[in-house]
Amino acid sequence: MALIVQKYGGTSVATIDKIRRVAKHIVNSKEKGDDILVVVSAMGGETNRLIELSRSIMDPPDERELDVITSSGEQVSSGLLTMMIKSMGYDAISFQGHQVRIITDNAHSKARIVRIDDEKIKKALTEGKIIVVAGFQGVEEEGNVTTLGRGGSDLTAVALAAVLNASCELYKDDVDGIYTIDPGICENARKLEKISYDEMLEMSSLGSKVLQARAVEFAKKYHVPIHVRSTAKPDEKGTWVIEEEEMAELEKIVISGVTYDKDQAKITIIHVSDQPGIAAKLFNPLADEGILVDMIVQNVSTEGYTDMTFTVPRTDFKKAIKITQGVANELGAKAVTSDDKIAKVSLVGVGMKTHSGIASRMFSVLAREGINIMMISTSEIKISCVIDEKFTELAVRALHDEFELGD
Ligand code: ASP
Ligand code: MG
Repeated sequence: MALIVQKYGGTSVATIDKIRRVAKHIVNSKEKGDDILVVVSAMGGETNRLIELSRSIMDPPDERELDVITSSGEQVSSGLLTMMIKSMGYDAISFQGHQVRIITDNAHSKARIVRIDDEKIKKALTEGKIIVVAGFQGVEEEGNVTTLGRGGSDLTAVALAAVLNASCELYKDDVDGIYTIDPGICENARKLEKISYDEMLEMSSLGSKVLQARAVEFAKKYHVPIHVRSTAKPDEKGTWVIEEEEMAELEKIVISGVTYDKDQAKITIIHVSDQPGIAAKLFNPLADEGILVDMIVQNVSTEGYTDMTFTVPRTDFKKAIKITQGVANELGAKAVTSDDKIAKVSLVGVGMKTHSGIASRMFSVLAREGINIMMISTSEIKISCVIDEKFTELAVRALHDEFELGD
């Protein structure tokens, strides 16, 4: 008998009918003879609603209380799902994060898991119960409730699978796997059979919303294979997220996918002196405020002066401009300019490690479409270009065609 961790996202449990459908699949899996531990997200839209309510009182909201409020979404869905399973005649029990004891640090709203106690779970499993764990929630040493970042139920599922040595199935309502491109904007998007952790990580952090990036990082670190599947067609194969070493040479296609991220903004600080310590002066205060700077480009200097351009998440745009303006004044820079109508489009693929000429082909495609490249960054398995937001769809479709990724 194997233990399977099944995670259901918010859209999969958005209504009582959908909860019934999920419960049926859970009891069917149980009937096949496996032990089942379910991790569940809040009902679709609920977390956003709770954040809005909080913001209507205080913006930014008090961090401790915000976690008290947002974690309630998963409390409700875990209780409802457990009750539904019981109504079908099966023994089930729900656990909140603090009951399992998913211990985290105290970084509210983006807490990191430190340790998981597994006694309660193991006991309930030996009693033959189906276990439903509220995703997204943790508890810090002092007993305060924490949450694991948006999309954090994925992390709950992967972490529990790691601790319990279980396999991990992530069920989605809107997609049935990982695609070469967002199927919503390209009709010949192709479902991948397998993708490596590193590629998935790039795709997750580049804006593909299918899996939480932190969950993928965790899965890679603890070697947890993830099967991304569909709630609507739960018996169909989805996409496996696994280690690159486990992929056959043939499966290591040059490009696995094209992604885009519109949650970006760029800021340029013009005419600062080109000497040691300037970058530190600029980026330290941004880091202190928890702003994730992504791409950074520094011009060649002329007569001892240079310009620096960098990107930040759009949600932090105003805060970042304010900080940059302060530093600019201090450094005697000429000006700060900014643009939040940009997008980052990227090609991802482990095959890039061994193939040359991918970047130049990407630039040629963008040139052919008349799209100006504002910034470029690369890693071993990724090439990203920042472009004008209004050309995003055109760019990703053209790239998808050029590299023949479709069906
Ligand atoms: N409910 C949380 C969110 O919407 C966690 C999750 O869905 O995984 O971000
Ligand atoms: Mg969600």
